[in-house]
Amino acid sequence: MGASFSIRGIVIASRPHRNQDAIITIFTPQQGLISVMVPGAKKHSSRLAPLATPPLLADFMLSESKGFYYLKEGETVESFRGLYDSFEALTCASHILEIIKDTAVDPESSQALFPLLVYVLYDLSKHPEKYRQIVAAFEWRVMDALGFGFDLSECDCGNPDKMPTRAFSFSKCRLYCSAIGCVAKAKDYQFVSLGCVEALRYIREAPLERLSAFRAEKYVLDDLCAVTHRYLCDRLEKNYDKMEILDTLPPMKD
Ligand SMILES: [Zn+2]
Repeated sequence: MGASFSIRGIVIASRPHRNQDAIITIFTPQQGLISVMVPGAKKHSSRLAPLATPPLLADFMLSESKGFYYLKEGETVESFRGLYDSFEALTCASHILEIIKDTAVDPESSQALFPLLVYVLYDLSKHPEKYRQIVAAFEWRVMDALGFGFDLSECDCGNPDKMPTRAFSFSKCRLYCSAIGCVAKAKDYQFVSLGCVEALRYIREAPLERLSAFRAEKYVLDDLCAVTHRYLCDRLEKNYDKMEILDTLPPMKD
């Protein structure tokens, strides 16, 4: 075995390997995603087993041998336990981890995404009933972190009409007012309420610990969730569908 070293990271995925082992994916701000072998993770007596269950923030001691990393020990920093009390929150967490797995591909994006992921998982575990706005806020900030920022300034006609709605253009990545000539320019769009535009502006500027600390009526939240999700799927060219099962459930009580 080579030299040992310690890292702080989040376990975002785990899969069985051979009979008794597991291979986990740890997301770190410096190195992005790394695969780590957890020997004996499937044994009941294994002290490493709890470290092989995503999502989990921990300090890990790893060793390297022939190009592979092995987990020697680790200490949990945050286990996001509240997630396990809510099917909705757990489903959202797996959606979020899937996005991280696809996007934390270089040091620059990893550094931007790591604190966002830590905060959002923590928020979900503490406030599972706010899962829709937490996920929308996450999706919107991921787009900013990856350089897909949407232009939230007013319609470029210079004289936006007085309707309380804006066309959110997926193809032009900007807003248009509902005047006929402007909507025509929006091409592929969805009308959203001004409350939704306000929420999108709030999320962009909010400090991480205040990311989901906005109040939104249901119709605003419906707009918000629809556009952040589709915008993300369009830009990343993938249909992230893990959350669809939640549409079939009765709404949660606050
Ligand atoms: Zn206009």
